[in-house]
Amino acid sequence: MTTLDIPELALVALVGVSGSGKSTFAARHFAPSQVLASDAFRAMVADDENDQSASADAFGALHHVAGVRLRRGRLTVVDATNLQPHARAGLVAVAREHDVLPVAIVLDVPEALAWERTEARTDRTHGRQVLARMQRDLRRSSGQLAREGFRRVHVLRGVEEIDAARIRLEK
Ligand code: ATP
Ligand code: MG
Repeated sequence: MTTLDIPELALVALVGVSGSGKSTFAARHFAPSQVLASDAFRAMVADDENDQSASADAFGALHHVAGVRLRRGRLTVVDATNLQPHARAGLVAVAREHDVLPVAIVLDVPEALAWERTEARTDRTHGRQVLARMQRDLRRSSGQLAREGFRRVHVLRGVEEIDAARIRLEK
Protein backbone atom coordinates (compact mmCIF):
# COMPACT_ATOMS: atom_id res chain seq x y z
CA MET A 1 0.00 0.00 0.00
CA THR A 2 1.24 3.49 -0.83
CA THR A 3 0.39 6.14 1.71
CA LEU A 4 0.17 9.65 0.35
CA ASP A 5 0.83 12.20 3.07
CA ILE A 6 -1.03 15.41 2.47
CA PRO A 7 -1.22 18.45 4.74
CA GLU A 8 -4.66 18.85 6.27
CA LEU A 9 -4.93 22.13 4.44
CA ALA A 10 -3.58 21.79 0.91
CA LEU A 11 -4.48 22.47 -2.66
CA VAL A 12 -4.27 19.07 -4.30
CA ALA A 13 -3.92 18.99 -8.08
CA LEU A 14 -4.69 15.68 -9.71
CA VAL A 15 -2.59 15.25 -12.84
CA GLY A 16 -3.36 12.71 -15.55
CA VAL A 17 -4.65 12.13 -19.05
CA SER A 18 -8.34 11.71 -19.75
CA GLY A 19 -9.29 8.24 -18.63
CA SER A 20 -6.47 7.92 -16.10
CA GLY A 21 -9.03 7.77 -13.31
CA LYS A 22 -8.81 11.21 -11.70
CA SER A 23 -12.53 11.61 -11.01
CA THR A 24 -12.77 8.02 -9.76
CA PHE A 25 -9.79 8.61 -7.45
CA ALA A 26 -11.23 11.90 -6.20
CA ALA A 27 -14.58 10.28 -5.43
CA ARG A 28 -12.89 7.44 -3.59
CA HIS A 29 -10.67 9.53 -1.37
CA PHE A 30 -12.33 12.89 -0.88
CA ALA A 31 -15.75 14.30 -0.05
CA PRO A 32 -17.68 15.56 -3.08
CA SER A 33 -17.61 19.10 -1.71
CA GLN A 34 -13.78 19.03 -1.56
CA VAL A 35 -13.44 18.29 -5.26
CA LEU A 36 -13.56 21.05 -7.86
CA ALA A 37 -13.86 19.42 -11.28
CA SER A 38 -13.23 21.30 -14.52
CA ASP A 39 -16.14 19.37 -16.08
CA ALA A 40 -18.54 20.61 -13.45
CA PHE A 41 -17.35 24.19 -13.90
CA ARG A 42 -17.73 23.97 -17.71
CA ALA A 43 -21.26 22.71 -17.15
CA MET A 44 -21.89 25.49 -14.65
CA VAL A 45 -20.86 28.28 -17.02
CA ALA A 46 -21.87 26.76 -20.38
CA ASP A 47 -24.38 23.94 -19.77
CA ASP A 48 -21.94 21.54 -21.44
CA GLU A 49 -19.15 19.79 -19.59
CA ASN A 50 -17.27 19.16 -22.84
CA ASP A 51 -17.47 22.70 -24.22
CA GLN A 52 -13.77 23.51 -24.58
CA SER A 53 -14.61 27.09 -25.59
CA ALA A 54 -15.80 27.57 -22.02
CA SER A 55 -12.47 26.51 -20.51
CA ALA A 56 -11.13 29.98 -19.71
CA ASP A 57 -14.33 31.01 -17.94
CA ALA A 58 -14.67 27.63 -16.24
CA PHE A 59 -11.13 27.76 -14.87
CA GLY A 60 -11.60 31.36 -13.81
CA ALA A 61 -14.61 30.30 -11.75
CA LEU A 62 -12.81 27.21 -10.44
CA HIS A 63 -9.80 29.28 -9.30
CA HIS A 64 -12.12 31.71 -7.61
CA VAL A 65 -13.91 28.98 -5.66
CA ALA A 66 -10.60 27.29 -4.82
CA GLY A 67 -9.35 30.60 -3.43
CA VAL A 68 -12.47 31.08 -1.31
CA ARG A 69 -12.18 27.55 0.08
CA LEU A 70 -8.49 27.96 0.92
CA ARG A 71 -9.16 31.29 2.61
CA ARG A 72 -11.71 29.43 4.72
CA GLY A 73 -9.16 26.73 5.55
CA ARG A 74 -10.75 23.94 3.51
CA LEU A 75 -8.75 21.22 1.77
CA THR A 76 -9.39 21.50 -1.95
CA VAL A 77 -8.82 18.99 -4.73
CA VAL A 78 -8.71 20.07 -8.37
CA ASP A 79 -9.97 17.36 -10.70
CA ALA A 80 -8.71 18.49 -14.12
CA THR A 81 -6.05 17.04 -16.39
CA ASN A 82 -3.53 19.68 -15.21
CA LEU A 83 -1.19 18.63 -17.98
CA GLN A 84 -0.22 22.12 -19.14
CA PRO A 85 2.36 24.16 -17.22
CA HIS A 86 0.15 27.26 -17.38
CA ALA A 87 -2.80 25.35 -15.88
CA ARG A 88 -0.64 24.18 -13.00
CA ALA A 89 0.91 27.64 -12.57
CA GLY A 90 -2.59 29.02 -11.98
CA LEU A 91 -3.15 26.52 -9.18
CA VAL A 92 0.24 27.13 -7.58
CA ALA A 93 -0.55 30.85 -7.64
CA VAL A 94 -3.92 30.36 -5.91
CA ALA A 95 -2.29 28.17 -3.25
CA ARG A 96 0.53 30.66 -2.64
CA GLU A 97 -1.89 33.54 -2.41
CA HIS A 98 -3.50 31.76 0.51
CA ASP A 99 -0.31 30.43 2.08
CA VAL A 100 -1.36 26.87 1.41
CA LEU A 101 0.84 24.04 0.15
CA PRO A 102 0.24 22.95 -3.42
CA VAL A 103 0.42 19.16 -3.76
CA ALA A 104 0.34 17.11 -6.96
CA ILE A 105 -0.96 13.56 -7.31
CA VAL A 106 -0.03 12.11 -10.70
CA LEU A 107 -2.06 9.20 -12.04
CA ASP A 108 0.06 7.53 -14.70
CA VAL A 109 -1.67 4.66 -16.48
CA PRO A 110 -0.68 3.02 -19.76
CA GLU A 111 -2.01 4.97 -22.74
CA ALA A 112 -3.68 1.84 -24.11
CA LEU A 113 -5.71 1.47 -20.94
CA ALA A 114 -6.76 5.11 -20.93
CA TRP A 115 -7.86 4.70 -24.55
CA GLU A 116 -9.78 1.51 -23.83
CA ARG A 117 -11.64 3.33 -21.06
CA THR A 118 -12.29 6.37 -23.25
CA GLU A 119 -13.81 4.23 -25.98
CA ALA A 120 -16.15 2.65 -23.45
CA ARG A 121 -17.42 6.05 -22.26
CA THR A 122 -20.35 7.93 -23.68
CA ASP A 123 -19.36 11.21 -22.01
CA ARG A 124 -16.06 11.59 -23.92
CA THR A 125 -15.70 11.94 -27.67
CA HIS A 126 -12.06 12.90 -28.18
CA GLY A 127 -9.96 10.85 -30.56
CA ARG A 128 -6.83 8.79 -30.18
CA GLN A 129 -4.66 11.76 -31.30
CA VAL A 130 -5.93 13.94 -28.50
CA LEU A 131 -5.11 11.25 -25.96
CA ALA A 132 -1.65 10.78 -27.46
CA ARG A 133 -1.03 14.51 -27.09
CA MET A 134 -2.12 14.38 -23.46
CA GLN A 135 0.25 11.47 -22.87
CA ARG A 136 3.11 13.52 -24.37
CA ASP A 137 2.17 16.44 -22.13
CA LEU A 138 2.22 14.10 -19.13
CA ARG A 139 5.72 12.86 -20.05
CA ARG A 140 6.90 16.47 -20.33
CA SER A 141 5.28 17.35 -17.03
CA SER A 142 6.86 14.67 -14.90
CA GLY A 143 10.02 16.05 -13.41
CA GLN A 144 8.74 19.63 -13.72
CA LEU A 145 6.20 19.60 -10.93
CA ALA A 146 8.53 20.19 -7.98
CA ARG A 147 10.28 22.96 -9.91
CA GLU A 148 6.90 24.56 -10.63
CA GLY A 149 6.25 24.92 -6.91
CA PHE A 150 4.39 21.74 -5.94
CA ARG A 151 5.73 21.01 -2.48
CA ARG A 152 4.83 17.34 -2.59
CA VAL A 153 4.59 15.30 -5.73
CA HIS A 154 3.06 11.84 -5.44
CA VAL A 155 3.27 9.69 -8.54
CA LEU A 156 1.09 6.59 -8.80
CA ARG A 157 2.10 4.31 -11.66
CA GLY A 158 -0.41 1.79 -12.94
CA VAL A 159 -3.84 0.74 -11.76
CA GLU A 160 -2.56 -1.47 -8.96
CA GLU A 161 -0.62 1.33 -7.35
CA ILE A 162 -3.54 3.72 -7.86
CA ASP A 163 -6.01 1.27 -6.30
CA ALA A 164 -3.70 0.54 -3.37
CA ALA A 165 -3.09 4.18 -2.50
CA ARG A 166 -4.45 5.73 0.64
CA ILE A 167 -4.43 9.35 1.72
CA ARG A 168 -3.15 10.32 5.15
CA LEU A 169 -3.99 13.84 6.23
CA GLU A 170 -1.33 15.45 8.39
CA LYS A 171 -2.57 17.56 11.26
P1 ATP B 1 -11.38 12.74 -17.61
O1 ATP B 1 -10.09 13.52 -17.60
O2 ATP B 1 -11.85 12.48 -19.01
O3 ATP B 1 -12.42 13.33 -16.74
P2 ATP B 1 -10.67 10.83 -15.57
O4 ATP B 1 -9.19 10.84 -15.40
O5 ATP B 1 -11.47 11.61 -14.61
O6 ATP B 1 -11.02 11.28 -17.07
P3 ATP B 1 -12.37 8.64 -14.77
O7 ATP B 1 -13.63 9.23 -15.24
O8 ATP B 1 -12.13 8.61 -13.31
O9 ATP B 1 -11.13 9.31 -15.54
O10 ATP B 1 -12.23 7.16 -15.29
C1 ATP B 1 -12.45 6.83 -16.65
C2 ATP B 1 -13.08 5.47 -16.73
O11 ATP B 1 -12.19 4.51 -16.18
C3 ATP B 1 -14.37 5.36 -15.93
O12 ATP B 1 -15.30 4.67 -16.70
C4 ATP B 1 -14.01 4.58 -14.69
O13 ATP B 1 -15.03 3.74 -14.27
C5 ATP B 1 -12.79 3.78 -15.12
N1 ATP B 1 -11.83 3.73 -14.00
C6 ATP B 1 -11.21 4.77 -13.45
N2 ATP B 1 -10.40 4.42 -12.44
C7 ATP B 1 -10.52 3.08 -12.35
C8 ATP B 1 -9.93 2.10 -11.50
N3 ATP B 1 -9.06 2.44 -10.55
N4 ATP B 1 -10.27 0.81 -11.69
C9 ATP B 1 -11.14 0.48 -12.67
N5 ATP B 1 -11.73 1.36 -13.50
C10 ATP B 1 -11.44 2.64 -13.36
MG1 MG C 1 -12.82 13.17 -14.83
